[in-house]
Amino acid sequence: MKVPFNDFTPMQRELEREMYAAFDRVYRRAWYIDGGERKAFEESFAAYCNAQYCVGVGNGLEAIRLILQGMDVGAGDEVIVPATTFIATALAVTYVGAVPVFVEVDPETYTIDCDKIGEKITERTKALIAVHLYGHPCDMDRICEIAKAHGLRVIEDAAQAHGALYKGRKVGSLGDAAAFSFYPGKNLGALGDAGAVTTNDKRLADRIRILANYGSDRKYHHIYQGTNSRLDELQAAFLRVKLPELDRWNAWRKRAAQRYCDAIRNSAVKLPETAAYADPVWHIFAIRTRQRDALEKWLCDAGINTTIHYPTAMHLQEAYADLKLPKGSLPLAEMIADEEISLPMYYGITDEQITYVADRINAWRPQETGEA
Ligand SMILES: *Cc1c(COP(=O)(O)O)cnc(C)c1O
Repeated sequence: MKVPFNDFTPMQRELEREMYAAFDRVYRRAWYIDGGERKAFEESFAAYCNAQYCVGVGNGLEAIRLILQGMDVGAGDEVIVPATTFIATALAVTYVGAVPVFVEVDPETYTIDCDKIGEKITERTKALIAVHLYGHPCDMDRICEIAKAHGLRVIEDAAQAHGALYKGRKVGSLGDAAAFSFYPGKNLGALGDAGAVTTNDKRLADRIRILANYGSDRKYHHIYQGTNSRLDELQAAFLRVKLPELDRWNAWRKRAAQRYCDAIRNSAVKLPETAAYADPVWHIFAIRTRQRDALEKWLCDAGINTTIHYPTAMHLQEAYADLKLPKGSLPLAEMIADEEISLPMYYGITDEQITYVADRINAWRPQETGEA
């Protein structure tokens, strides 16, 4: 049996006619930037997240960067970020000239360890980015409490968590602002790059919209040194077709995750945990094992594709050599980078496929290494 890591075809087949109709609509209207499709999507996505405002932008990285700029975070400032995340979280911080200060994540839920935030806060700390990694929400009440005590702004990086719930509340409205990515492989994906900011702060939303449109508040009148990062009409139209299906697709992932957890029985493999407060959306189904590369090969030989999220901890990336954080300085992040392996997870994955993957994992035995 072949099990791909991801497969868009079940989703594509269901929506083919509506997606073509969306394309037709935009094509015939011949208005491709900053029009009705964007506005309609922003309204429905804000409502979906229980946020008052949504600003469509070019991608997820820009969403984080524009939030930071909108909050006046820049040179001389520090921003708390988890040590385990996709590099975009840190890149947004360094792009605005601020310094990312890495905090280890909890090795059960892979979200920022709230007990370790306090020791990293200095006079320069301006903001904290809470990454709902793999689709599992962070402990937002605790994060907001810490932030309030130190006067920090809270940004959610919800790029992997569209629709996830924290104590019954949707991510995207739990901090000062949230960044979403609609990269095709995310739980809600466009047919190209796209992203959005959600917030209940009107001033911030207005500012971000202006920043994303050349810093222009009206045509050829520029109040900020902005950028060009807009959600285009085609992507907005496609996203409008897909948004109403998101909860059903997420429910499929949730069921698949439950099946993996029920079926995988191998003492060398650690399954992901869900915090009592969380209802995750399983963007990634992450397991861990000491001999990760051997398991990866074992599964690959059985026709099962896996991915690693992420093979190099942020501080050990060449791009961040200037931070001078040596190997060993963030041991948990380094361990996760060495041990993590992501199993196939997508809308439409079948019970037979999940059972097959679980059976192969259960049959796997790590090599004796002589370690105690
Ligand atoms: C995908 C992702 C981003 C960046 O989104 P893009 O749309 O690819 O720029 C940011 N943060 C996290 C956690 C992501 O997974």
